Amino acid sequence: MRTMPLVYQSLIISIVVFCVPKASQAHIAKHGANTELVVLGIAQDAGYPQTLCYQPHCMPAWQDKSLRKMATSLAVVDHAAKAHYLFEATPDLPQQLYLLQQEWSQPDYLLQGVFLTHAHMGHYTGLMHFGRESAATKQIAVYAMPAMRSFLENNGPWSQLVKLKNIELKTLQHQREVTLGSIKVTPLLVPHRDEFSETVGYLIKGPTKTALFIPDIDKWQKWSTAIEDLIPQVDYALLDATFYSADELKGRTMADVPHPLVIESMSRLKNLAEDQKQKIIFIHLNHTNPLLKPSSPESLAVTAAGFRIANEGLILPL
Ligand SMILES: [Zn+2]
Ligand SMILES: [Zn+2]
Ligand SMILES: [Zn+2]
Repeated sequence: MRTMPLVYQSLIISIVVFCVPKASQAHIAKHGANTELVVLGIAQDAGYPQTLCYQPHCMPAWQDKSLRKMATSLAVVDHAAKAHYLFEATPDLPQQLYLLQQEWSQPDYLLQGVFLTHAHMGHYTGLMHFGRESAATKQIAVYAMPAMRSFLENNGPWSQLVKLKNIELKTLQHQREVTLGSIKVTPLLVPHRDEFSETVGYLIKGPTKTALFIPDIDKWQKWSTAIEDLIPQVDYALLDATFYSADELKGRTMADVPHPLVIESMSRLKNLAEDQKQKIIFIHLNHTNPLLKPSSPESLAVTAAGFRIANEGLILPL
């Protein structure tokens, strides 16, 4: 092959480099927001289908991988800063980061922080993928409440992530806002089974919109804040929908699993105006939850009542 004079080669290279639009600009043009929230997973901690469950509701997802759902997690993408923030480190973290970077955001953005709600398996164990047996990250900022922080510092294998500086813990305080680039994050303590840590939800404020994220909470009436009073103050509310109704809890009493049932949440919030109801997006679905199936009568009842159900890859402008 004949070689091209060097001057033409460099001209061609500079034309190519100059003409390639910046991926982030293209993305902003497509989605219209500089800061976005992305839903990375919608299932309860154990995912869907669940380990050792071969009942009729889980069998379709064992047989067809496309029906599987990952554990509840969100990402916030700050396009101006080319930064990603994760909310929760789930057992599905490798796949969730892959989809975030390759499909829902941009591959060259950096993971600049991880916010944890509490120490139940679906919400923090994905941190293991930052360790020396895996990605061996360098000082990924992990934001946690005081008891959650102490749990990670004082129990293996998490303590090794701290010791080897794969992660760098940052302490959060109830209702104290943290600012990172274009987002402001405020943890809110909520009642939940707190065996190893306290539990928080998050207010996630972007330049134009605010999301409330409460993946796990006991009954609404056990919380000092009235959920219906919080809805008008936010643009999206991603709320605990672990169980649709008590029908799913065969053999277990409600006292064992004190989550707000979806039917209870819908009843409590039924008097909100239509535009307020549309802010509510149900998430954190147990493997037994009929809302995992978009065509189920329960899913149709939720949307007919004016509420929404989260799905993987849902992008909300912040
Ligand atoms: Zn959970
Ligand atoms: Zn199941
Ligand atoms: Zn939990």
